[in-house]
Amino acid sequence: MVEDSYKHQGMRRRLIQKLRDKGIESARVLEVMGKIPRHIFFENAFLEHAYQDKAFPIGHGQTISQPYTVAFQSQLLNVQAGDKVLEIGTGSGYQAMVLHDLGAKLYTIEYQQALYERTSAFLPKLGYKISFFQGDGSKGLAIHEPFDKIIVTAGAPTVPNSLIAQLKVGGCLVIPVGDNNKQQMLRLTKTTEKEISKEVFADFSFVPLKGDEGWN
Ligand code: SAM
Repeated sequence: MVEDSYKHQGMRRRLIQKLRDKGIESARVLEVMGKIPRHIFFENAFLEHAYQDKAFPIGHGQTISQPYTVAFQSQLLNVQAGDKVLEIGTGSGYQAMVLHDLGAKLYTIEYQQALYERTSAFLPKLGYKISFFQGDGSKGLAIHEPFDKIIVTAGAPTVPNSLIAQLKVGGCLVIPVGDNNKQQMLRLTKTTEKEISKEVFADFSFVPLKGDEGWN
């Protein structure tokens, strides 16, 4: 059982207020993030970092995303209960917990074997029923397509064709696209089998999306 003290809860409330102040409007996203004990991803020596609005190293050269980024992407994805969602870049599993608690039937894929092993063992111990995969998510997850929604939590050089192909009509893909330094957050909605509408949001800075349809 994870300890969630009044101190943790107080720090988390302040973080949620900060996200609201920065413009996150989705009450559902704020409510879900307000309940998840992000400090479970931090070793004791770094606990005070858990509720700061910043990314943090999780080993293997990767990071747990900044809370604002998780909130922003989750808000854009607009998960409805029962949506079949693919997350690319499992990492720590924090974003996966948020999507699950928003009601997603979640599939998540991680490139790095060690991170995949760690997170796919950890989240089920907390009671999370999520389907974990190891591999190159830049190509999506063809054996389980189509998806209502796809979220990419690493920066891509271009929009991978496979991800568009694996979306249902009416579904959307939230993905940061750009160069090594910064990426524009995009939401692409598959309006018909052949048409996509594109919305462009703010710039972010992600670790690179590796693989065949990423930075290979
Ligand atoms: N969603 C994560 C979280 O909540 O901690 C964020 C993790 S980090 C910002 C991005 C992750 O994407 C890293 O764990 C990285 O190994 C992974 N990644 C990079 N390229 C990938 C690919 N082609 N397929 C799957 N995962 C990939």
